[in-house]
Amino acid sequence: MTRKNTEPLGDYLKNRIAVGDTECWEWTASRNKGGYGQAICWLKTHGTILAHRLSYIHFKGPIPVGHDICHTCDNPSCINPDHLWDGTPKENMRDMIRKGRSGKRKGHGAVPEEKYGEIKQKYASGVSIGKLAAEYGVKYDAIFYVCVTLDKRAKESSVS
Ligand SMILES: [Zn+2]
Repeated sequence: MTRKNTEPLGDYLKNRIAVGDTECWEWTASRNKGGYGQAICWLKTHGTILAHRLSYIHFKGPIPVGHDICHTCDNPSCINPDHLWDGTPKENMRDMIRKGRSGKRKGHGAVPEEKYGEIKQKYASGVSIGKLAAEYGVKYDAIFYVCVTLDKRAKESSVS
């Protein structure tokens, strides 16, 4: 579904929030798994953008490349520009650690390259990606990358 959105950006944002007691602007449209608001049909060329980032761009200006927009209120669905600040990924991480919720405590979950062959073999013999992820203690995506993405790339390059 790619419905073209013709509302001005300010209206688009304001029509999709509810202001509660905390002065947070709660995003009322769709949210992702982390609870962040998603502005799906805005910016056709950019696809989905997180609502708080869109709000920041609209009210405060462009986001420097590689920066995260963080919440002072710690409410992921809030898009109140007064509660948003621009931080480098490092600052954001420091902020999360200070607040005691480091999302990266479990590590990035990359698979060591010497395990690739072993994992592919197991996958080929019918072990599911989910099971392999649990076995190697990594994320689903990491196994998916080894078994599916790399394989697809290899096939594509051998065709040409
Ligand atoms: Zn807030």
